Amino acid sequence: MMSEQETATNEIGIGEPSDEWREYRGAPTGTDIECEGWRQEAALRMLNNNLDPEVAEKPEDLVVYGGTGRAARSWDAYDAILAELRELGDEETLLVQSGKPVGRFPTHERAPRVLIANSNLVGKWDSWEHFHELEAEGKIMYGQMTAGSWAYIGTQGILQGTYETLAELGREEYDSDLEGKIVATGGLGGMSGAQPLAVTMNRGVCIAAEVDAHRIERRLETDYLMERAESLNEALDNAEEAAEAGEPYSVAVEMNVADMLEAMDSRGFVPDVVTDQTSAHDELEGYYPSGYTVAEADALRESDPERYIEESLDTMERHVDAILDLQDKGTVAFEYGNNLRGQVEEHRGREDAFDFPGFVPAYIRPMFCRGRGPFRWAALSGDPADIHRTDEAVTELFPENDSLTRWISLAQEQVSFQGLPSRVCWLGYETSEMPEASRNGGGGTAEGDDDGLTERARFALRINELVAEGEISAPIVVTRDHLDAGSVASPHRETEAMKDGTDAVADWPILNALLNCAAGADIVSVHDGGGVGIGNALHANNHVVLDGSDLAAEKARRVFTTDPGMGVIRHADAGYDEAIDEADESDVPVPMRDRR
Ligand code: NAD
Repeated sequence: MMSEQETATNEIGIGEPSDEWREYRGAPTGTDIECEGWRQEAALRMLNNNLDPEVAEKPEDLVVYGGTGRAARSWDAYDAILAELRELGDEETLLVQSGKPVGRFPTHERAPRVLIANSNLVGKWDSWEHFHELEAEGKIMYGQMTAGSWAYIGTQGILQGTYETLAELGREEYDSDLEGKIVATGGLGGMSGAQPLAVTMNRGVCIAAEVDAHRIERRLETDYLMERAESLNEALDNAEEAAEAGEPYSVAVEMNVADMLEAMDSRGFVPDVVTDQTSAHDELEGYYPSGYTVAEADALRESDPERYIEESLDTMERHVDAILDLQDKGTVAFEYGNNLRGQVEEHRGREDAFDFPGFVPAYIRPMFCRGRGPFRWAALSGDPADIHRTDEAVTELFPENDSLTRWISLAQEQVSFQGLPSRVCWLGYETSEMPEASRNGGGGTAEGDDDGLTERARFALRINELVAEGEISAPIVVTRDHLDAGSVASPHRETEAMKDGTDAVADWPILNALLNCAAGADIVSVHDGGGVGIGNALHANNHVVLDGSDLAAEKARRVFTTDPGMGVIRHADAGYDEAIDEADESDVPVPMRDRR
């Protein structure tokens, strides 16, 4: 038994890294399992995958990505989750509250095995300030989006979203790709580290400012970044040379991004595109103020957090000013969902911070209207061959989808796996007919051509079939980003500038999570504050384990119809024509509209 004093000590802070984590150092792999079934085993492997030193940014602090996005509240909680998962039966459900296991109830076989709620606070108290008070007492955890729901798969997850966004920008702004264009940005962390590769995959040139030399090193080691320059001048010269030659190129410079953009502006260097992915959503633990080295800023955060916050917000204001100046001079500027504009508006009273757009209304919403979003899957075997088999399957199923086919071949060439081999691509609702080439058993359905399967369900069923046939050596777990068509309310990001003004209506992510439970997803989670910080978003996620069984097929068919379907009805309800068309074409009931 722990003494009261020990209990109190353990409740404050996260404790020392657990021995179990040191032994695992990533997800267990292979076909032998520690848990009672593959659904529980998938949860155990995905939690450990999120904390794999190859995947997580600071695993010893339980931090996976995105400032302080954690996978478990403390090391004791991590040990306890593993113990619970090992014992969890096929007719039980484990409850995880802000990274700590809090209950286990008898449910039934088709119910989720794990339900997760992270970082949620009641409206009036829903702020970083109250969150940090509770966090310091060990009573809550920031789960970001995929960290706390054990769905992070390393930088590839965001790479594809960034690739899609930049591809769409190229099409809209230049009617082409990014060849010969220079993109200036900030941040080379967990997700932000995907930026240079996403730019070069679109044939452009990227200059990234990053204050932390270790982050730059890490992106160089994993081939997400090509070079590091010793000075801004060197970076600008190299970038201009590459752009003139039409060569894809990326370079990092170790400096504060606000300083970099101001320096570009004062030198008359106007990049074609400016965006940003520093952790501006968190002014204390995410964003770095100008005028300090990383070590000095870290010391200031400890000694004088209030001053840190003021200086951090001052730098953000300069950062936004520099973006607006460059935009006036012709740069295409957009915010990539880190709440930089919201911070400057809220804390510095600058409404003009929103004079440059967010990436969702600018480039992503039309895809959300069709239920399209980032679908991802991981091979629980740990064998890359299993992912290569799924790569083949997805391109066989959707041969007419050029951007998907191009992405899969670029990903195979240029993306190093981190932790469990995994893949991501954007799939939607569309209930298109099965291609001729894949009819022979493809899609895992015997219902003929007009089977009404959504893109996601069709692909998930095909994977399930490949697992059943032994072509894939162990189950595949399928999940997605919380940044998805119908699972998030985030007025500064996914639901910015909704047509009907419902940016802050959070019923949709809650309905999404409830529907995922009803449809039988294996893990369902609801979070507050991912991406844009506490109080600024509610969002939900799901996992389905494809173990080749009939039960997995039944769940997959339901979940991957209802989940993208939420995107269609949410946007149809807001009055978007593309969503209404999708509902008509794919026969999605939209009750009050249908009745009229
Ligand atoms: P992270 O904390 O792992 O990385 C952020 C990086 O920015 C760190 O390496 C940090 O050293 C650097 N940094 C901080 N302040 C800086 C400054 N002023 N100048 C230069 N470098 C600075 O976080 P992440 O996972 O990379 O995510 C970054 C942010 O981008 C988050 O706010 C996240 O929510 C957002 N984001 C949003 C989306 C999306 O909307 N789809 C996608 C990716 C990231």
